Amino acid sequence: MSATPQYLLDAIEVFRNPELLGEGAPLIDLKAFSYDELKTLIVDGLGEKAFRAEQIHQWLYLHYVRSFDEMTNLSKGLRERLARVSRVSTVEHVGSHVSADGTTKYQFKLDDGAIIESVFLPFESHNSLCISSQVGCAMGCTFCYTAKMGLSRHLSVAEIVDQVVNVRRVAGESDEGVSNIVFMGMGEPLHNLDHVIRACAILTADKGLNFSRRKVTVSTSGLVPEIERFMAESNVQLAVSLNATTDVSRSKIMPINDRYDLEELMTCLRELPLERRQRITFEYVLLKDFNDSIDDAKRIVKLIHGIPSKINIIPFNPHPETPFDIPSEETVEAFQRYLIDHNVSCFRRKTKGREGMAACGQLGKPSEEKKTPRHLRKKLEVLREELG
Ligand code: SF4
Repeated sequence: MSATPQYLLDAIEVFRNPELLGEGAPLIDLKAFSYDELKTLIVDGLGEKAFRAEQIHQWLYLHYVRSFDEMTNLSKGLRERLARVSRVSTVEHVGSHVSADGTTKYQFKLDDGAIIESVFLPFESHNSLCISSQVGCAMGCTFCYTAKMGLSRHLSVAEIVDQVVNVRRVAGESDEGVSNIVFMGMGEPLHNLDHVIRACAILTADKGLNFSRRKVTVSTSGLVPEIERFMAESNVQLAVSLNATTDVSRSKIMPINDRYDLEELMTCLRELPLERRQRITFEYVLLKDFNDSIDDAKRIVKLIHGIPSKINIIPFNPHPETPFDIPSEETVEAFQRYLIDHNVSCFRRKTKGREGMAACGQLGKPSEEKKTPRHLRKKLEVLREELG
């Protein structure tokens, strides 16, 4: 049995002795705990029966309540004890934009005023919700709009989970069901690893949101040590943004490649202990005349050899001031055809939400006052010159 984590031990202590919380200290956020953790907290911290945890969990994740007062099957005394030391956090829905193809971009305001975005994507066979893990991103990928924001901060466990809770709440009955969760919104999830692992546990807990672990996917730009830890500590799916097939070209668009080059990344992926039938998803954004040649497709076949995988190709989604362009339809088809003909399981991601800036790589709102990080500006200038 794994040891009780420190954050839970601390919370139990505060539940037992509310005076430990001190004046002005933040209240304990109940949405930061998995079902089992909440049970431990309620039983060990408050001396209540375990079924109370199940009731609270249902209020949080099935009824989407935002205050203890709404938890009407708890006694007034218990609600008061909970409210003394804890809170039910919520991200505030401040706007939605629905594209013609049904893609909906949701904007949520956090306690500190920061805005994050989540995108609901309806497909024929399933509905995905793309969620954010950070405010902005530190990774500086040159094809990505979010990168221009730089990193403001990590999201808390509750802020990650609450995007899902609130999309369900806002969408109400019209929500035909978010079946899949993808961590491909703002931020590099594995840069916020502790919180993402805990959020995934909450998303997949059968007593609450109950997503199949096969339908939750965390996407990374390629942080090698974090990939290893993530695979050891979480049981949801992994996607890796590949996006280029040589170190020279990958470093131009993904600075992380200077830290973990293709060989190190591929070796790590090849050695991961995958379950039977588990596959790693590679994401490959096709940028016109940059990474969309048949030579690139040939190199992909070699690079992913020996890794149980599939590849999603995503024609570039443009955004203001980008040096990149959308590849032609013929190029995309030829690229995909080459991979399929060479036994690579290759899918073309349908472009959705492009006109509403809700597509892959288009999220966030770089502020006019806060300048694009200097290293990214430099890289973009060089690319602009190179690509004409
Ligand atoms: S592509 Fe992903 S990792 Fe790269 S800058 Fe954008 S949000 Fe960050």
